[in-house]
Amino acid sequence: MQDLGEALLRLAMRHSPVGMMVTSPAGEMLAVNEAACAMLGYEHDELVGASWQDITHPEDLATDIDLVAATLAGERASYRLNKRYVRKDGEVLWGDLSVALLRDDDGSPLHFISQILDVTEQRIAAERIAEANATIEKHARTVAAIYDAVDVGLVLIDRSGRYEQVNRRHSDFMRLAYPEGHHGMAGQTGEVFEADGVTPMARQDLPSHRATAGDEFDDVRLWVGSDPATRRALSVSARSTRHADGSLAGAALAYKDVTDFMRALAVKDEFVASVSHELRTPLTSVLGHLEILEQRRDLPHDVRHQLAVVDRNAARLEMLVSDLLYVAQEADATLQVRRIPADVAAVVHDAFEAARPMAAGTGVALSADLPDSLLAMCDPQRLRQVVDNLVSNGLKYTDAGGEVHVRLRAVDDRMELQVSDTGIGIAPEDVARLFARFYRADTERVKLTAGTGLGLNIVRSIVEACGGEVRVDSEVGRGSTFTAWIPLVVPGDE
Ligand code: ADP
Repeated sequence: MQDLGEALLRLAMRHSPVGMMVTSPAGEMLAVNEAACAMLGYEHDELVGASWQDITHPEDLATDIDLVAATLAGERASYRLNKRYVRKDGEVLWGDLSVALLRDDDGSPLHFISQILDVTEQRIAAERIAEANATIEKHARTVAAIYDAVDVGLVLIDRSGRYEQVNRRHSDFMRLAYPEGHHGMAGQTGEVFEADGVTPMARQDLPSHRATAGDEFDDVRLWVGSDPATRRALSVSARSTRHADGSLAGAALAYKDVTDFMRALAVKDEFVASVSHELRTPLTSVLGHLEILEQRRDLPHDVRHQLAVVDRNAARLEMLVSDLLYVAQEADATLQVRRIPADVAAVVHDAFEAARPMAAGTGVALSADLPDSLLAMCDPQRLRQVVDNLVSNGLKYTDAGGEVHVRLRAVDDRMELQVSDTGIGIAPEDVARLFARFYRADTERVKLTAGTGLGLNIVRSIVEACGGEVRVDSEVGRGSTFTAWIPLVVPGDE
C-alpha cells in the first residue's frame, strides 16, 4: 500500500504541470518535480537537499513558518497561502501554495506535500487593475470636485430625459425653479419663465426638453424663481452626448447665471426710455409752437424759410426720439408701419438731396441712380429713415475722396434699394452683429465717428415690418454694400 502510494505520488509529480515538492518537517526539500524546477529556475539537484526557507521571499517567510508550526502542532491538517519565492535569477515568483502534512500510523509527522501554482501573471494583472482603478478613482474624484466647484449649473441627461447628474450649482437653480420638488425627468414645468421674466416657459421650450430631443443651442435665456429678490436669470447651452458608435446617448446642459447682465440691460433700457421721454415732452412743445408760428402771416420770407428748416429738423429729432423709445421699450415688438400709396423714388431722391451738404462737408462723392418714379404701398416716413440711415452711414464710414452710391430699382415685385460705399468696410465677425441694438464695430475709426449703434437696428426693424429683408456685403478696406428689398405691393393692400 505504502509502495503503491509512493509510486502514484511520484507519477503524479512527474507529470503535473503544477510545481510539487515533498519536504521534511524541518524544511528540507526531499523531492521536487520538473514543473517546480522550471518555475523557480533551478536545476533539480540544486533544489533537492536545500530548504524551502532558502527560496522563500524574506517578507513571506514568517507567515509560512507559522503555518508549518500550526500544522505540525496538529492545529490543522493542511494550509493554503499566496506567497512569494525568489527565483534563481533573482526575479520574484508569486505562488499559490497548498500544503498537506502526511503523518505515519502513529501520527508522527512524516513529510509535507506542497503544490505551487505560478500566479505571478495574475498578480501582476491584478496589481495593474488595482493601479488603473486607483487612477480612475482619482480622476473621478477630480472631475467630481471640478463639477461641484464650477460656477455654472451642469446637468447630464440620458436619452429618455432622465437627470443622470446634477452639480451643486444647478441644485440651487433647481430649488428656485421647482420649489415643490423635481421628479428627475426633463421637461417639467415650474417657476421657469421666458427672457421677459413674465411668460411661463412652455414645456416644449424648456432647454432640458429640447436637449432630450437632440437639439443643440447656446444662450437660451430664461428666469428661474418668481420672487424678485431671489430669482436668477440663466443663459443655457446644450450639447448632445453620443455613444462610441455615434448614437445619441443624451445631452449635457450648462446653465450660466446672467442675472447681473440682464439687470444691467434692463437698467440701460430704462435709462434710454426715460431720457427719451424727457426729450419728447419739450420737443412736442417746440413742434407745437412752430406750427403756431408758421401760421402767422406777418413773418418775413427769410424767417419763414428758417422756421421751415427748424421744423424739419425738430421733426427728425422727434422721429429719432420715438425710435429710441421704441428700441428701448419694445425690443421684441414689431414696428408699426402705415402702408399708403407713395412714390418711393421721390422719397429716396429727397433723402439723397438732403445728404448732399453732409457729403460735401466730408469730401465724399455722392451719386445716385434712381428711376423717375416708382410707386409702392409703403410708409414714406419710415422708408425715408431707412435711406437716411444707410446713406449717412455710407458717408460717415468713408474717408474723404471715397464714393457713396445710391441705387433704387424694381426687381420683380420688390423694390431694391442699394447703398454702396468705398469706405472702411466691415470685418466678417462684425457683419452678423451690426443689426443688434447699440452694436458698433470695435475699431478706432468707428469710435472716432459719432453714432449710437441704433441706426441699423431701426433699418432692419422697418424693412422687416414692411415684409422685406436687408443684407450687407462688405470687405474691410474696400467698402460695403447694404441692400434692402421691400415688396412693392403686399397682398391685402390693393
Ligand atoms: P452708428 O452708425 O450710429 O454707430 P449703426 O447701427 O448705423 O450705428 O451702425 C452700427 C455699426 O455698423 C457702426 O458703428 C459701424 O461699426 C458699422 N457700419 C454701419 N454702416 C457701415 C458702413 N457703411 N461701413 C462700415 N461700417 C459700417
